[in-house]
Amino acid sequence: MRVLLVEDEAKLAEYVRKGLSENGFVVDVAKDGIDGKHLALHGEYDLVVLDVMLPGIDGFGVLKALRESRNTPVLMLTARDRVEDRVKGLQDGADDYLVKPFAFSELLARLQALGRRGVRVSAEEANVLRLGPLELDMTKRKATREGKRLELTSKEFILLTLFLRRQGEVLSRTVLAEQVWDMNFDGDTNAVEVAIRRLRAKMDDPFDHKLLRTVRGMGYVLETP
Ligand code: CA
Repeated sequence: MRVLLVEDEAKLAEYVRKGLSENGFVVDVAKDGIDGKHLALHGEYDLVVLDVMLPGIDGFGVLKALRESRNTPVLMLTARDRVEDRVKGLQDGADDYLVKPFAFSELLARLQALGRRGVRVSAEEANVLRLGPLELDMTKRKATREGKRLELTSKEFILLTLFLRRQGEVLSRTVLAEQVWDMNFDGDTNAVEVAIRRLRAKMDDPFDHKLLRTVRGMGYVLETP
């Protein structure tokens, strides 16, 4: 598996490069957006790990250029407190994102999952996530259920994206807090519960079949009943 890592922080780039190499990946590192864009467009990579804040051209610019001609899966590295960056990345064609700082094991798991999924069939197809009657169009930033539009806030959109990407998997309140709210904590997950309630009011309550289920003591899972 060949990976292009576009990251300007030398220490982090080396840490990730070393870890991925030890796990059987062949890794090329680009230290700015210009080299990153060039390699992404002209190299042969199975996956691209793309930082958002880069000298030269930022991660969104690289992603945009890449998506004009290639479907290589992209995982974006986003800063804390930049929820809008995640929405934008996913809208612009990123396949997944990871919030900095991240555990190497988490990056590895995500890349392995992306690698298994393989090359995106088409940009349009990859940008629509589905579960039964529920559909999320990343490009248009539009969520529908049974064709009826759901008006979601940015956080609710991210939350639903996360559930759709990891459908069938129980996501704990802590994972949701970290991935959606940038909160690194074990204690108060009240914000998560409130947001889940609001999301449910929009995507589940008006319908007969409930898709988002609470798993007592563990978290929440999105699945067809
Ligand atoms: Ca950076």
